[in-house]
Amino acid sequence: MIRKTAAQMADALAKGETTSVELTQAHLDRITAVDGQVKAFLHVDAEGALAQAKSVDTRRKSGEKLSPLAGIPLALKDVLAQKGVPTTAGSKILEGWCPPYDSTVVSKLKDAGVVIMGKTNMDEFAMGSSTENSGYGPTFNPWDLTRTPGGSSGGSAAAVSSFEAPLAIGSDTGGSIRQPAALTGIVGVRPTYGAVSRFGLIAYSSSLDQAGPFGRTVLDTALLHEVMAGHDPKDATSINAPVPAVVAAAKSGDVKGMKIGVIKQLQGEGYQKGVQARFDESLKELASLGAEIVEVDCPSFEYALAAYYLIAPSECSSNLARFDAMRYGLRTGDVNGASAEAVMSATRDAGFGREVKRRIILGTYALSSGYYDAYYGSAQKIRTLIIQDYAKAFTKADVLVSPTAPTTAYKIGEKVDDPMAMYLGDVATIPVNLAGICGMSLPAGLAEEDNLPVGFQIMAPAMQDHRLYQAGAALEAALLSKWGAPILDKAPALGGSK
Ligand code: GLN
Repeated sequence: MIRKTAAQMADALAKGETTSVELTQAHLDRITAVDGQVKAFLHVDAEGALAQAKSVDTRRKSGEKLSPLAGIPLALKDVLAQKGVPTTAGSKILEGWCPPYDSTVVSKLKDAGVVIMGKTNMDEFAMGSSTENSGYGPTFNPWDLTRTPGGSSGGSAAAVSSFEAPLAIGSDTGGSIRQPAALTGIVGVRPTYGAVSRFGLIAYSSSLDQAGPFGRTVLDTALLHEVMAGHDPKDATSINAPVPAVVAAAKSGDVKGMKIGVIKQLQGEGYQKGVQARFDESLKELASLGAEIVEVDCPSFEYALAAYYLIAPSECSSNLARFDAMRYGLRTGDVNGASAEAVMSATRDAGFGREVKRRIILGTYALSSGYYDAYYGSAQKIRTLIIQDYAKAFTKADVLVSPTAPTTAYKIGEKVDDPMAMYLGDVATIPVNLAGICGMSLPAGLAEEDNLPVGFQIMAPAMQDHRLYQAGAALEAALLSKWGAPILDKAPALGGSK
């Protein structure tokens, strides 16, 4: 049962072939069996999940009309507030904090009857690309337990790829949904900025943050997308427009006549051989399905990484000022009449990890008077140029494509002491966030040199999220018929290959 897609599980529930309690218990058993090795979860709420499942089963029995994902279990990134459940954002500074309210995403999940099984591991405050910056230790890639699952939503991606959950939620500020999806062989979508409410999403970089869905298929991801998205008056940046019809697009999966633009700057040098090869093959598949492949030029993308690593730390240095030892979370050094300033300083020293401190310092510097124009101001100008590059490219193509990440999953410990090397891995995902548009990563096969999954990235203009699903579903179907079986059947760790 746990190896089925969420859509198949929903079907089985609707037909009365199984119950949500049974389905949830099967996933909780899987978590017990493998999460000691994968470490996808920071907190498993077995009791809460079974209670939710039971209530959905009762409502179904009484003939109530339920939403398509009612009764389906899900793993939630620990960056989203859930009432009464420990929420840490992967940081020691929030250890033991239980929010007194639900984030809008959680409210929507609860309304739809989705069963939230627990909170997943992540890089502290979503700062990182490997989940190694978590204050609670790393998550391990189900394909090879010596490697990282990517990040920052590595726990959510690992939960889905190890069959601990059919669906998960992540957040993507610079690639944190798409890159771990790529590195673990699943589907991940970063919706258009403003499409999913940020109310109750612990802020890293507010102008870039956006929560989104993970699934093992394009359709599953679309089903979750429709549950999460929609206007929310509690978020001032929320878009007041109908949610794009992503489920219908995932079901149609047609690319005949679609123009697909290959971004010249996001391929070739610096991309692993097997990554580039799977990307090129996927393009051929799309062409043989009737899509027209064109090349587009985005010259400002060269500066995207530099701009992002100024804007994101600048915003984080402001957002993280709220962790002041006074309002919530950790407090240390409160002895012998210590001053508030001393307590604050001791708490932030003890509670924040290395990468978070590095970014707060960087951002504070970039925003300081005398440096603002040279750093933050220039970065914002680059952001405008990137928006213009996309706008021009989208006059030539309906969707744009690139590899999701330049390499497959690397070893735990390989890059964690070299932040620049880690940052370079975000080169292909970051432009989407800077422009506020949407992007998907879906599996394109395995790289021949290491037999690890490669991600194919699709990008579409703001609020055209359905185009991602339309092109993604077409490519997914073509590749599946070529492979003969879903890619996760080839994952050797955890008895994945059968
Ligand atoms: N890896 C990028 C960073 O470290 C992106 C993280 C994210 O999307 N949350 O900031």
